[in-house]
Parts: sequence; structure tokens; C-alpha cells
Amino acid sequence: MMEKLKELAMNPAHEILFREKTAKTTGKYFWAANIFVLLFQIYNILYTLFYTDFQLKSQASRVYMVLYGAMLLICILTAVCGWILTAGRKGKSAKLLHLYTAFGCLLLIWSACITLYDQRVSSNISVYMTTAVYIAGLLYIRPRISVPVFIFCEAILLAGILQLDLAPSRDIYGFCVNSVGLTLVALFISLYRWASLRKDFLNHLEMEEKNEMITRQSERLNYLANHDPLTGLWNRNYLSEWTDRFFSENSRRQIAVFVIDIDHFKEYNDTFGHVEGDECLKKVAGVLQELEGIHFRYGGEEFLCLLEITDETQAKHLADRLCSQIEQQKIPSSKPGRYLTVSAGYAVGTMKNDLEFRRLLHGADDALYWAKNNGRNQTARCAPR
Ligand code: GH3
Ligand code: MG
Ligand code: MG
Repeated sequence: MMEKLKELAMNPAHEILFREKTAKTTGKYFWAANIFVLLFQIYNILYTLFYTDFQLKSQASRVYMVLYGAMLLICILTAVCGWILTAGRKGKSAKLLHLYTAFGCLLLIWSACITLYDQRVSSNISVYMTTAVYIAGLLYIRPRISVPVFIFCEAILLAGILQLDLAPSRDIYGFCVNSVGLTLVALFISLYRWASLRKDFLNHLEMEEKNEMITRQSERLNYLANHDPLTGLWNRNYLSEWTDRFFSENSRRQIAVFVIDIDHFKEYNDTFGHVEGDECLKKVAGVLQELEGIHFRYGGEEFLCLLEITDETQAKHLADRLCSQIEQQKIPSSKPGRYLTVSAGYAVGTMKNDLEFRRLLHGADDALYWAKNNGRNQTARCAPR
């Protein structure tokens, strides 16, 4: 039992969320009941007034008027408080839940009183029954409150019925058994609702957390599928996705394809080690990312950049900027007193299908080859074919 109760415990942040959610759902039942009971009291008051010709001579009519008036007042006061709390800013859910609990408890006590007073003339317990079941089944009331209140109401009924001066033929035993049975059932429903609301909320929370984890994991997998883990640039897998999308757009715009390769990188690795080599790759990738276009890690120390251009000078400008910015990083090279450099080859043209893309790529590759063979640390444009 204690284990089960522990399972329903929540941390303060979850408790606040739970109250907010429960205040919303319970609020609907509170307003429905409040308006119904309020209108019913107005009807009862008017009926009693007309029935007694506004005289209220009998003690019973005065007692009923007091009971109806008290309930009317409770309805009005709780409605006003509920309206003020609901209209106010957020964070009032704890107070709202207290208000709904107070309304439920007062309604239950009131129904026990009026049911008991009715016993002088009838053995009907339907007011108490309806109210108890409604409160138990629809309002969220903590056991700390529901248990004593239900017991208190039952005590009113039992103690009261024994005090009343009833006809000898009246079945007091039946009334006691029925009311005790009803109170126990209502109490059970109330505890069950309390526990199931909390359990549902915790289950929902657990599911949300799992969903979030799955979303995070799938985002991570998506990232890993499309990115190079070392440099964070797009990988070759994404290159084919990107080009397919580009072909489907049927763009007639000019595109420049750059193939960039680090100069003497093997020597760099041999001189500084592979760990430093990896750091160097990251630095080069960082520079590329700051430039226009979309950048891919194409091979070990080769990068690919694609850029939509409006005129060809834009491509030349970008290629030169790229080389000079890498050199400006002042990454020591394997040759003393020199800095690390890159060479780039590029080709310009339209790219409506894979064939055209391959052609541009080969052109850029050829140009890179030329740049490498003619001194490195420079850019070369593939001659238009
Ligand atoms: P060139 O100027 O002609 O391009 O000379 P190079 O030495 O850069 O040419 P090559 O293609 O022969 O060497 C590429 C080197 O890049 C070989 C390999 O050790 C290194 N490399 C490839 N991938 C990685 C990597 O992920 N990390 C490190 N540290 N080195 C890598
Ligand atoms: Mg190289
Ligand atoms: Mg290479």
C-alpha cells in the first residue's frame, strides 16, 4: 500500500503541472455544478415563498429557507472567488483546487444536513446520494480531506437520525445501513479518482519524456547521417540528397563547384601527428563555414563547396578569398616558417541533372590538379567545355 502511494508522489515541478492540468478539468465540473445548484436554490427559495404565501410560519419552512439561503450564498461566494482566480494570472491552480474542494465539501455537508432534515417526513436519501456520487466521481479531492469529510457527513446522518423523533414504524436500521454503504462507495470512488488522476498524469509525463528522448535520438541520428562527425560539415551522403533536390527544382541558375584540398597534408600529419591533423581539419572546416555556399567534407582532407552565382567573378572572388583566409589562420605548416595552405579548383555552369553535376565536378577536379601541379596555394578555374 505504502509502495503504491509512493508511486503517486511527484516532485514540486510536476506537482505544479499536475495542479494546473487538474484545475482545468475539475473546473468544468465545478462550474456546471455551481450553476445548477445555484439555480436550484433560487427555485427552492421562490417555491417555498409562494408555497407559504411569503409567511414562512412553520418552523420547517424557515429551516429549509436557511438551508437554501446558505447554499445559495456558498454558490455565489465560490463562483465569485472562482471567477477572480480564473481571470487572474497563471499560477492560481493550487488555490482553484482548494476552492473546488471547499465547494465540494460544503455541498456534501449541506446535502447531509438537508437529507437528515427530510427524514422527518420521508426516508429519501437521494439528495445526499446524488451529491456524494457527483463530488466523489468528478472533483479531485485529496484523501487527507475527503476521508474526514465523508466520515463527518456520515456521522451527521447517523447521529442525527437517532436524535430525530421518528414514527416507530420507520426503518432506521435500513437508513443507517444504506447511508453507511453509500458513504463507503462514494469514499472509494473519491480515492480512486484521486489516485487515477495522479497515475494518468504520471503515465502521460513518462510517455512525453520517452517521446522527447526518441525525438532527440532521431534528430541526432539524422544529424549523424548527414554530417561529418569530425568537422561538422555536411557529408557525401547529404551531397546526393542536396543535388537531387537541386535537380528537382529545375534551376537554370549558374552554379560554381569548388574542390578544395589541403596542401602537403600528409607531411603535416607526419610532422605534427594525426591528432593535430584532425584539429587542423576542423580549423579549415571552420573557415569554410564562414564563407557563402554549402560545404561538404568530400574525402579525407578534401572539401566541396557549391554556390549559386549570378556572375562568374563571384566564383573567382570566393575561391581566392578561401585560399587567403586559410593562410591567414597562420596554422604552422610542416615547412618551417610557412603556414598551412590549400589549393582549389572550380568549375561554373548549370546543373540540371546528375550528368551535368558530374561534369562540373570533373572540371573542378582537373582544375585542382592543375593548381597542385603549378605551385599549390592557389585557385584554378576549369576551362569552359
Ligand atoms: P597534396 O598537396 O598533393 O594534396 O599533398 P597531400 O599530402 O595533402 O596529399 P595526399 O592526398 O597524398 O594526402 C592526404 C593525407 O590526408 C593522407 C592522410 O593521412 C590524411 N588524412 C586523410 N583523412 C584524415 C583525417 O581524417 N585526419 C587526419 N589527421 N589526416 C587525414
Ligand atoms: Mg592534400
Ligand atoms: Mg587529397
